Amino acid sequence: MKDYPDFPELVIEDEQFYRDECVELSRFFTQHQKELAEIHALGRRIIKFYQVLEPFFHDFTESVCHCCAVPCCVNRHGFPDFEDLVLFLAMGQGLPDYNFNVIDTDKCQFLGPNGCSLPRQARSYRCTWYFCDHVLDEFEHINSKRFHRFDVELGRLGRCRSVLLERFSELWFISH
Ligand code: SF4
Ligand code: SF4
Repeated sequence: MKDYPDFPELVIEDEQFYRDECVELSRFFTQHQKELAEIHALGRRIIKFYQVLEPFFHDFTESVCHCCAVPCCVNRHGFPDFEDLVLFLAMGQGLPDYNFNVIDTDKCQFLGPNGCSLPRQARSYRCTWYFCDHVLDEFEHINSKRFHRFDVELGRLGRCRSVLLERFSELWFISH
């Protein structure tokens, strides 16, 4: 397997840099539609993984997180990284618009009275894989078999995402 350079790091405070990267990525997807067919197919598989995972999130995490006194959803966690942007486009989604004026340690701009206002697949990946130990322990305690299934499905999502990003990086770095 060939090693490729890292994707650019998106700096949350640098709105212009973020917007430039979005424009460049969107253009890349438009100009390489044929070569990106496999990436889109993997994007569709990712959407299916999210659909499989949603009931687990709904039943075991959102109810606990809803009552959390100190939610981990601070603003900087709601921002995507470069890989997230690639995933959004691979899944056929537009790139989200963000308010860059919210302080990164303040409450996330997407956290409302009923929890996160973004659909699962429009959130940064860390919003899908990160849960505090309390949530995970509670989940495992209530239904360990179902927790195991959740863990397996989350692992499948993660592996599919890695394959997608690896294939994408082959095309991206050859063209840059
Ligand atoms: S994952 Fe844990 S810390 Fe984060 S909102 Fe849920 S209960 Fe709170
Ligand atoms: S889950 Fe939603 S509210 Fe929480 S950090 Fe992510 S985007 Fe923000």
